[in-house]
Amino acid sequence: MKRLRIIIALLLIVAMSHAAGKAKYVFYFIGDGMGVNQVNITEMYLSALKGNIGVENLLMTQFPAFTMATTYSNSSPVTDSAASGTALASGTKTYNGAIGVDKDSAAVYSIAVDAKKAGKKVGILTSVSINHATPASFYAHQNYRKMYYEIASDIPASGFDFFAGSGFVSPTLSYDKHEMPDVEQKIKDAGYLVLRGMEQYRKHCGDKAPKVLIQTPDKDQQSLPYAIDRKANDITLADLTRCAIEQLDGKQGFFMMVEGGKIDWAAHDNDPHTMIREVIDMDSAVRVAYDFYLKHPHETLIVISADHETGGLTMARDKIYDLYLTQLLNQHCSLRELSNAIHMTRVSKGEKISYADIQKVLSDKMGFWNKITLTWEQEKKLRDAYEKSFVTDYKRYAKLDEDQIEPVARVANRVMSQVANIGWTTGGHTAGYVPVYAIGAGQELFHGRLDNALLPMLIKQAAGY
Ligand SMILES: [Zn+2]
Repeated sequence: MKRLRIIIALLLIVAMSHAAGKAKYVFYFIGDGMGVNQVNITEMYLSALKGNIGVENLLMTQFPAFTMATTYSNSSPVTDSAASGTALASGTKTYNGAIGVDKDSAAVYSIAVDAKKAGKKVGILTSVSINHATPASFYAHQNYRKMYYEIASDIPASGFDFFAGSGFVSPTLSYDKHEMPDVEQKIKDAGYLVLRGMEQYRKHCGDKAPKVLIQTPDKDQQSLPYAIDRKANDITLADLTRCAIEQLDGKQGFFMMVEGGKIDWAAHDNDPHTMIREVIDMDSAVRVAYDFYLKHPHETLIVISADHETGGLTMARDKIYDLYLTQLLNQHCSLRELSNAIHMTRVSKGEKISYADIQKVLSDKMGFWNKITLTWEQEKKLRDAYEKSFVTDYKRYAKLDEDQIEPVARVANRVMSQVANIGWTTGGHTAGYVPVYAIGAGQELFHGRLDNALLPMLIKQAAGY
């Protein structure tokens, strides 16, 4: 009996060490702002759509390894995406705002660098700009996340094989506001093919050169469109993941980081349906990785986590023991698009714009009045916002900056959350746990309570970098 136990123990050790260092292909997904409730509400929403109470499974939640991670940074219990990105990339806790540097501003190197040194191909993918905090943490070393030009300028030195996202923020302006040579040209000069849009990508996908895939110049360079606003031919995170596999797959193996960057943006906006659709969208990208895993189950590791929770999302509010998630189907666009639609109406109608004009937009886009009966208080909030921004203060909102939101749109969004009985406590981040899911070679390493800085160490162990 004792001998049998020893043999079993030995077999287990052999099996474990066999798993470690076997992850030849690594997918590292980061859902920006994807706390445990973001995932939970998405599954409840999917269940509600089927007329049920409960959860309808996303793919990622079915992965055999599931635990949670803490996200605090070196400078605050509540992290930002730069400090958490750096922790998730390099295992180093640093101050909020830091990109690939430690608390003393010394460069720290990500597991993508380790992967490259180990001879793997490396890809960095995101649904936002390539020089945004999360992707930047894997290749750049800058003291502050808003040094966009400087961050993008670190791309050539990385030597990574494939970058993909919406574009570059601030491509010709340094952080201290000097006009600079186009960063895209700098990247091209370093030997990268910069491909704009899928058509160009298709033409050059077979070329040997390292590549940067971004949207065509007519599109927003800050991010891919929200899933809820998507039009035919818009690039998706799943598309980028497919392209990355095409570019990186081979005998040597690969490491890729894939960020679902706009779960966070929608949650900052407290924009309920948009956020849920972003979680579903990231799950679609995970499915692309999962299909690859099914072909190489013993050599592939997929790890999914998040950098922090955003919005302080709660499922239920106001002492009402219920959720009305199917009401979200009446929300047909993101807060940003709703704001645009209201602003277009403002522009076309001029100062003669009436409350009825606004009501028409809200009926079309949010189902108010025609699908959703509003309470007297909700109605009053909308009317007050209309009075303020279209009557008493018309001039102030006549020219809206790109980042500004029409006040009526903001209120309409709050009303939608209330209608669905969803709560938000902040327009910023919270220190809540984030989920960790894993499947494949080395999945057994992901157990027990984790911290974000541990994740890259475990991936390294699984991949043998
Ligand atoms: Zn954020």
